[in-house]
Amino acid sequence: MDVTHDMNGQKKWMQLPRNVVIGNGVINEVRDVCTDLKLIDNALVVTGKSTKGIAGEIVQDSLQDAGQNVELVISESASMKEVERIRKHAIESGTRYFLGVGSGKTIDVAKLAATELEVPFISVPTAASHDGIVSSRASIKDGRTTTSIQANAPMAVIADTEIIANAPYRLLAAGCGDIISNCTAVLDWQLASRLQNVQFSEYAAALASMTAQILIDSADSIKPELESSVRMVVKALVSSGVAMSIAGSSRPASGSEHMFSHALDRVADEPALHGEQCGVGTILMMYLHGGDWKRISDALKLIGAPTTAKELGIEDKYILEALVLSHTIRPERYTILGTGLTPDAAEIVARKTKVIS
Ligand SMILES: [Zn+2]
Repeated sequence: MDVTHDMNGQKKWMQLPRNVVIGNGVINEVRDVCTDLKLIDNALVVTGKSTKGIAGEIVQDSLQDAGQNVELVISESASMKEVERIRKHAIESGTRYFLGVGSGKTIDVAKLAATELEVPFISVPTAASHDGIVSSRASIKDGRTTTSIQANAPMAVIADTEIIANAPYRLLAAGCGDIISNCTAVLDWQLASRLQNVQFSEYAAALASMTAQILIDSADSIKPELESSVRMVVKALVSSGVAMSIAGSSRPASGSEHMFSHALDRVADEPALHGEQCGVGTILMMYLHGGDWKRISDALKLIGAPTTAKELGIEDKYILEALVLSHTIRPERYTILGTGLTPDAAEIVARKTKVIS
């Protein structure tokens, strides 16, 4: 494998999942995937309250049928406290590998606990709401602040399209927003590379932006309850994850639009889903880049993802507050936000793009 360098010039491995299994009923292949990876005993299934019955227990049963010792634990939230609790549980039960079976939050908790214990982790998403289901990053909430933490990439991803198609469609539409955000993330990365000579990867940038373009071009075929839509979105999320692995950073899939989403998490009383906020963020940041923001907005509309403050369920004033705050979220990451928007500039952007009216 090639090595890549991070911002500090440190060498690190390009980490990619070894097995990616996507399709109808593939949850029943968990056992084969584990055997292939020589993961043959002492598994810990981390699952959610509602995803336990949908997928968690299926995974547990099928591994137990294969003679493995399997423990199952319910994860309630994506906080460091929760990661710590799961980690302790794993140490006590002699866990050799983790399976995160559930939504993005469950997967992030399992991923971080596995990384801390330096044991393998398998991602079994029941929804495709963001690229964390395949990437080496985990989002953890600490009060109102969400932090993206570097972790190990999953050894395998098992995405059952039937299960994901039965999850609320809102989650899949949010996943599309997270993919479409590659458009502005790559523009921000190019800008930072020109202005500040930050490490840039042509391959990672091309892959990330192509992934978003394909999804935008196919926006009219993303529909509720269709396994073909799920397959397309999951493949795009895998692609984005691979782009981040090649880059050795989240740059290809996270720029100013993600900073806007993190800012909204801080200021809004009830933030929307990560991918939903990133989608709206992409409209706003594409306007700032002088690009075709309408194309982004039209694609999101076709998919059925929010394009306005109202559809996000967030008051206009919080959108404006977040816009002004965005550049402070990750100051070391140079983006189109530069040194920040003034309140009146923020209002112009939000009105012109019809995010607020
Ligand atoms: Zn994201």
